[in-house]
Amino acid sequence: MIAEVIIDVAHSEVDRIFDYYAILELRAGHRVLVPFGRQTLEGFCVALKDTSELEDSQLKSVIRVLDDYPVLLKELLELSGFMTDKYRLKKVDALRLLIPAQMRGGRVKELRVNKLKAADILDKIVLGDKLRKGAKNQFGLLSFIQNGGVYLQAELNNQFGAQAVQKLVDLGALNRFTDVKKRTPASAEITEKPRIALTSAQKKAVNAVLQSQPKTHLLFGVTGSGKTEVYINIIKSVLKEGKTAILLVPEISLTPQVLGVFRAVFGGQTAILHSGLSAGERFDEWRRIRQGEASIVIGARSAVFAPVENIGVIIIDEEHDSSYKSETNPRFYTHDVAGWRAKFNNCPLILGSATPSLDSFYKARLGEYNLIELAVRINDKELPKVEIVDMMQEMRSGNTGIFSGSLLSQLENEINAGNQAMLFINRRGFASFMQCRECGYIAKCTDCDVSLVYHREEEALKCHFCNKRFKALTNCPVCNSTSIRHGATGTQRVVKELGELFPGVPVFRMDNDTTRDKNAHLGILEKFGKTKPSVLVGTQMIAKGHDFPCVTLVGVIDADMSLHFADYRSTERTYQLIIQVAGRAGRAALTGKVVVQTYTPKHYVYRFAANYDYKGFYEKEINLREVTKFPPFAKLVRIVVSGEKEDDSRNYVFELFNTIKALKLKYPNSFLFCEAMRAPIGRVQNRHRFQILMRITGNDEGVIMQNLYNLVDTGVTANLQVFVEVNPSNLN
Ligand code: ADP
Ligand code: ZN
Ligand code: ZN
Repeated sequence: MIAEVIIDVAHSEVDRIFDYYAILELRAGHRVLVPFGRQTLEGFCVALKDTSELEDSQLKSVIRVLDDYPVLLKELLELSGFMTDKYRLKKVDALRLLIPAQMRGGRVKELRVNKLKAADILDKIVLGDKLRKGAKNQFGLLSFIQNGGVYLQAELNNQFGAQAVQKLVDLGALNRFTDVKKRTPASAEITEKPRIALTSAQKKAVNAVLQSQPKTHLLFGVTGSGKTEVYINIIKSVLKEGKTAILLVPEISLTPQVLGVFRAVFGGQTAILHSGLSAGERFDEWRRIRQGEASIVIGARSAVFAPVENIGVIIIDEEHDSSYKSETNPRFYTHDVAGWRAKFNNCPLILGSATPSLDSFYKARLGEYNLIELAVRINDKELPKVEIVDMMQEMRSGNTGIFSGSLLSQLENEINAGNQAMLFINRRGFASFMQCRECGYIAKCTDCDVSLVYHREEEALKCHFCNKRFKALTNCPVCNSTSIRHGATGTQRVVKELGELFPGVPVFRMDNDTTRDKNAHLGILEKFGKTKPSVLVGTQMIAKGHDFPCVTLVGVIDADMSLHFADYRSTERTYQLIIQVAGRAGRAALTGKVVVQTYTPKHYVYRFAANYDYKGFYEKEINLREVTKFPPFAKLVRIVVSGEKEDDSRNYVFELFNTIKALKLKYPNSFLFCEAMRAPIGRVQNRHRFQILMRITGNDEGVIMQNLYNLVDTGVTANLQVFVEVNPSNLN
């Protein structure tokens, strides 16, 4: 037999299939060790075949298989082919997505521990004669184990001393063996919830999925409408048929609460995959799935590659979340991959959200997706009232602080009542920049064309693009003035001002700076959950999925921030953000309130958000997109070129641009827009960035994309990086 092997090296030149003589135990999907040139390298066996086109003398043999089972399922091997085609990934990059990274190169293995098993028949008298007289530990251990059993060696050593343990091993009373120990990820204690009877709307949703031909459903359910319970019931019924399930959630919603609910219902059948796990935990969870011990996988986007077989349902919760799109290599869109697997397994795919992406809702309107609605909250609980506050008006009436009068007085009320509040601001640090009042100097990163963010806790200026740190300004390096102005407010400043306004009231902060450590994120949420009254200040990450019953007030400090990004989706994002943060308020018995502060209160997004009018917002926005020909009515494509030498990057981008102009002549009606220019952030980490922006539409879109990918693939040199982005969520 001949094995087709992809070498596990990320070089374009070797990114193809190499033939080797197979060895007996080899199956498609095994990782293998093969001779390659003068080296020995790891690779993936993607297929077996009878003959090779190569001469016998040119073929070498696989040295050995690396694992005692094929790590890649047949389905996933096929999926990798789909991804290589669709996203123009390197074969090896597509394969690497399918296994825990540390498995490669043998950097992670099963955790083995020494255990001791007591002999079945222990003759205490015979053995006792052989022990040293008066050796308390030896006799103690002997009676400890006399009824048999299995013990951790470490524990016996601890209790009786290593010497005594060794003595009894030598006498054959204890037998040493090694065993696999599973590293189980942390999750909240299992809180057994009383099982809930579904509302009729929930029942209808469950039936709509289970009683129809497998297809894609868009579950559009307002926050608090009980989508989780719908998922649980569908998964239950899928498991009853002996099938498996994948539930994807945004990275940040993987709170112990969510996991707790699923563990409570499904117990040990659940496996968890997300980036917060240690390499060992990740590997063990992955193995449990691969070996069929876990039949439900809950995880962030990469869990869409989980090695489950016979899938009965795939669910993407909060489907609008931008984390489902991987925009850096290897690029992929979770919805596409999930859709492919759902087709392969002939099972339904469910996209759930209170604020579906415009793309998904558009597809539902076209009939591509089946729309299921949960229009009211459980128990008909009202959605929290949203108040839009005009910050220009506040300023005119003399309030230049970061809190409006309304937000401040409501904060005071809720704190006095012993409740909790969440304040959202999408900027970490203390202030967005430091500027000299005299000469206008702004502190900038030496390696990137961006201003530095002031972090007050460390008295440092930090670059949020390359993480470089600088000392905070005490005086201006140009004119020496000590009059320094702070830019727009960040999380740290909100915390500081709360401390001054409400001394003694606990304030927690959750942003990228406070959640570096593995379990920090869970720690903050847990502490906040237990402290009343208290305030949680945070970025994006507090907006998602959390269920704190005592949160009665949610404030959005600066709602316009996401509106002014150079991105066609910024309005959509702002709508989603307001509704999602609003969804954190008043989830239990208490009613919630939401205060949204803005400098542009007349913008239509606020009117629709305040009324929770998703459909109204959708109509308005989709019409705009149609008129201006933005996605989903056209593809927005960007090619970014970056390099250390400014001229090289510029020359190359214009070279590319000329070729593309020729392509444009061939398909004149397909290009709505096509320009080359410096990228909005012209330099990052000392690399100069240029871009070609295009909008492409029509039937030839597919051919054009292939042409663009070809162009870029052939043009890459060692000094320049070139990326193609499709509908990127960030146009920096
Ligand atoms: P969503 O995900 O739609 O925002 P959740 O699934 O978190 O909403 O549900 C909101 C709350 O309602 C949860 O506390 C949940 O336990 C509760 N809930 C869900 N379904 C029911 C039901 N049928 N009866 C009573 N309470 C329910
Ligand atoms: Zn100055
Ligand atoms: Zn920088």
